[in-house]
Amino acid sequence: MIRSTARLVCTVFVVLILVASSVAEAAQRPNIVWIFSDDHACNAIGAYGGRLQSENLTPNIDSIARDGIIFDRAYVGNSICAPSRATLLTGKHSHLNGKFDNRGGFNHDQQQFQKILQQHGYQTAMIGKIHLNGAMQGFDYWEVLPGQGRYTNPQFITTEGKTQYEGHSTDIVTDRALNWLDNGTDDARPFMMMVHYKAPHRNWLPAPRIMEKFRTRTFPEPDSLFDDYAGRGIAAHKQDMSISRTMTMASDLKVTPGSDRAAYLAEHKLEGDGLIRWKYQAYMQDYLGCVAGVDENIGRILAYLKEHNLDRNTVVMYSSDQGFYLGEHGWFDKRFMYEESFRTPLVARWPGVIKPGQRNHDLVQNIDFAETFLDIAGAPIPEDMQGESLVPLLKGETPDDWRRSLYYHYYEYPAVHSVRRHEGVSDGRYKLIRFYGVDVPDGEEWELFDLKNDPNEMNSIYNDSQQSARIKELEAELDRLKEYYQVPEDGGLPLRGTSSDEKKPNANAKTLKFEFQQGANVTTGMAPFLPGRGIRLTVPLSYSGNDGVLIAQGGASNGYVLWIKGGLLHWTVTRNDVAATISSEGKLPLGRITATVRQDKSGEATIALDDQQVAKGSVNGSFLAQPFDGLSVGEDSGSLVREFSTNRYSDKVGPVKVQLVE
Ligand code: CA
Repeated sequence: MIRSTARLVCTVFVVLILVASSVAEAAQRPNIVWIFSDDHACNAIGAYGGRLQSENLTPNIDSIARDGIIFDRAYVGNSICAPSRATLLTGKHSHLNGKFDNRGGFNHDQQQFQKILQQHGYQTAMIGKIHLNGAMQGFDYWEVLPGQGRYTNPQFITTEGKTQYEGHSTDIVTDRALNWLDNGTDDARPFMMMVHYKAPHRNWLPAPRIMEKFRTRTFPEPDSLFDDYAGRGIAAHKQDMSISRTMTMASDLKVTPGSDRAAYLAEHKLEGDGLIRWKYQAYMQDYLGCVAGVDENIGRILAYLKEHNLDRNTVVMYSSDQGFYLGEHGWFDKRFMYEESFRTPLVARWPGVIKPGQRNHDLVQNIDFAETFLDIAGAPIPEDMQGESLVPLLKGETPDDWRRSLYYHYYEYPAVHSVRRHEGVSDGRYKLIRFYGVDVPDGEEWELFDLKNDPNEMNSIYNDSQQSARIKELEAELDRLKEYYQVPEDGGLPLRGTSSDEKKPNANAKTLKFEFQQGANVTTGMAPFLPGRGIRLTVPLSYSGNDGVLIAQGGASNGYVLWIKGGLLHWTVTRNDVAATISSEGKLPLGRITATVRQDKSGEATIALDDQQVAKGSVNGSFLAQPFDGLSVGEDSGSLVREFSTNRYSDKVGPVKVQLVE
């Protein structure tokens, strides 16, 4: 009797404590720190296991998983930078948020989770890479990298204009984030902070302190480094993202005159498989060095939260905009629905809510993130968001009706890396993919994989007659998902023409003459259509000794820029990430002058000043593809054709006449 009274008192006491603490929690809604990187493969995170597990690359990300939860089967809906970020903000697949590929704009006026959080009392900030041109909305504070941003001494765009910091981009993004916590927030309201690293995106440039350590390391190779793509269709065969053919010596692998790598190659004369093996190691040293830098900086954020007693009431989540190939199938880059790029890392800690050491195997997707943030904050979730809140999963309580399959759709073709358009469905065990459109036999080609028996997706079993019932089921599931997610019949984005059409003028190219004023910043659709054409630019300017960009179209992959540095005029053309430059001889005269650039289809180029030729040379061929980025006068906006110390031209330039010629 006495004992049971004691037990009753004790139970009441515990209940009271629970009630009291939940009241306190309701009063103090949790902060959210969302840490996001670019192109971080699960294979490069210790907690995910795999061949790089023993390299101890990510102790801090691993600690989030250890203190909280790791999602084994987190996926994206469209494996490429900007569309993934649009999905993150909107909670919708590409066909509804309008951001299909890295080209074109993003409609910032549409509904986004951070606007709702802001309306519900959260302080909101976005710091780092967002890759969506235009002013951010719904953030009390934002400071973002222009386009892809750069690794060294990065520029940022803020509400106040452009600013620049010295150092490595990963360190600086963290500095800026902690600065906001120090100076930009008040203690009375919860905050939602998005910390978005550029790293480990191409061209994989670690901070010097880390690069030094990684340049002497060697890493295990994947089984499929020398994949011959037998067992798969045209898309795998015809991609342009291989370590052997696509990866560039100068930019990607930093084999520059006088470098240790150049000296090594000169001495060892590698070729064939030996050269691929060497390139893989160099790639891993740089890529994984970038990963180590991200992890180190996540450690700084975790330490800050602890030091400031914020760690108990802050949800920390880490993810990437998609996965990446680390030599699997002989590749780098992403885009395909194959696991390495379809899958993305996701770990979270939330003391008191997420039990430490959990591993979740449910199918989750990046359409879920926006709703999860809103749910954590206790804010309303709009009906038209397409995901599901992950909060029940964080608590270890997966609903019985949780999704059993995922929809995927990749659109960016024809484009860099030549990955054909495709859509598909995965139930976690079987994956059905439909490649469609341009130069695919019969207009479409299907693949089917059994991830249990063929985890590396080396052999499509689509043509195996024993699979016909399964194929029918998966096709029906794909149709069901397309209806559920409201995918338009044609996928939503019309094809831009075949790759042979790319050489012909498109609708825009009927216009062969253009005129642009200083400050012009036009989208790719309004910019001259370059492939297969020569170009003539007439650029009036006044010169008072300042460096800067006169006109630029495109970015580091494909484009051109006319720029001044050190009193000389430079014409730089990029083709598939390789830049070639011709420069004027003799200093520019001060005052008003007119520069004329002529480049023919073969890439022979000249620069004239007031009709006097000052430069002549080859830029190694014609324009290959229409750049994703548009054209700007007086600065290089968006993705930079090349990195300059001064991006903007402070004196007068224009109106610039651009003419496309045969
Ligand atoms: Ca990316």
